[in-house]
Amino acid sequence: MKYDYVIVGSGLFGSVFAYHARKAGNKVLVIDKRPHTGGNIYCASVKGINVHQYGAHIFHTDSRKVWDFVNSFASFNRYTNCPVANYKGKLYNLPFNMNTFYELWGVTTPEEAKAMIDRQKADALALLDGREPRNLEEQALCLVGTDIYETLIKGYTEKQWGRKCTDLPAFIIKRLPLRFTFDNNYFNDSYQGIPIGGYNRITDALLDGVDTRLCTDFFTDRRQYESLGRNLVYTGALDEFYGYRFGKLSYRTVRFENQNLNVRNWQGNAVINYTEREIPYTRIIEHKHFEPESPAYHSDFTVISKEYSCEWTEGAEPFYPVNDAANTELSAKYKALAASEDHVIFGGRLADYRYYDMDDVILNAMTLCEKLF
Ligand code: FAD
Ligand code: UDP
Repeated sequence: MKYDYVIVGSGLFGSVFAYHARKAGNKVLVIDKRPHTGGNIYCASVKGINVHQYGAHIFHTDSRKVWDFVNSFASFNRYTNCPVANYKGKLYNLPFNMNTFYELWGVTTPEEAKAMIDRQKADALALLDGREPRNLEEQALCLVGTDIYETLIKGYTEKQWGRKCTDLPAFIIKRLPLRFTFDNNYFNDSYQGIPIGGYNRITDALLDGVDTRLCTDFFTDRRQYESLGRNLVYTGALDEFYGYRFGKLSYRTVRFENQNLNVRNWQGNAVINYTEREIPYTRIIEHKHFEPESPAYHSDFTVISKEYSCEWTEGAEPFYPVNDAANTELSAKYKALAASEDHVIFGGRLADYRYYDMDDVILNAMTLCEKLF
């Protein structure tokens, strides 16, 4: 056996694992089916603009440990995500804060805003009669009331997940902050930013000196790759690893429609969400706004990406695990098999079938490596 660890997937989980394993003196091979490393955080440079090829990625974390770790590989700028919502041509600040309440109702004080939301929530709370919300619609109505739900949540969520809000779990919407201050920062975390020069700086540094084979799908010659190492680290789709024997897990994927435009500043913000059902895309990203310190920021050229959310079919990129009851039950069956493996480690968004942010994935890999090495 040539390697101590063969790692399937060069995304954040695979790269962080490879970095620590190598540092501890292990021989490591990373394979990835894509033509580049980095997984979903990979950026393609288009005339100097770092285009987030697999969807906009904003780094945010509450973990000092993760923040120090990523900053040891790249400098981060002070980008703060302040997405704007466009609903039928009118613009609203996100997340739900005093600016949004002013735009919706003309209220100017927290007291007025709270009173308005309390009035709007009253019916939904009465319907619950003390029990927990059972689905996303009930949860949203109890948190923010009817106007915000109808204007900023319902259409966007149903487009993103391809399911009715009444068929989605409540926790999805709990990610969004609700605050009674004039603060458009989308995240509550202590640390936030974009690596200057793009995310590839981080994964390139993590994989520096590691044997890497690209355009290499584990499943084209599974036996061979398994036989190359004493241990396997698998970060691909969990159900695929087991030949879909219990059935296929569902994912949402995103189709990106990119446009290169000879314009200096097309939409004035990195992220604009289109929250009405009738517009087929969920949001438009203008990538240059993530890195205002880049010389390309000032050029008369920009790249925008329209994101169309759709159901995953084989061959497409599995992006978001669908955390409904049926998929949770199915993934539990696969996880039970995974737990009984001796020389296979499963990690990352796909192998855990979990909706992780980048910092979660990094912390999981770091914690595991601390135990192992
Ligand atoms: P991945 O990055 O998916 O890496 C898995 C790798 O395994 C891929 O490179 C794949 O090609 C490879 N692979 C799979 N199967 C095989 C196989 N059979 N053979 C060989 N290679 C294989 N997080 C944030 O913190 N902030 C954000 O703003 C944010 N935005 C996001 C937007 C979108 C659209 C998506 C989908 C995710 C977003 N995330 C965000 C989450 C973030 O992308 C993930 O948490 C993180 O990148 C997952 O890393 P990973 O290593 O688990 O998986
Ligand atoms: N959401 C919404 N309106 C918006 C943005 C988000 O209703 O303008 C909902 C949607 O259901 C989404 C959830 O909030 O799935 C979490 O949003 P977030 O931006 O955290 O999702 P991500 O794209 O990062 O997974």
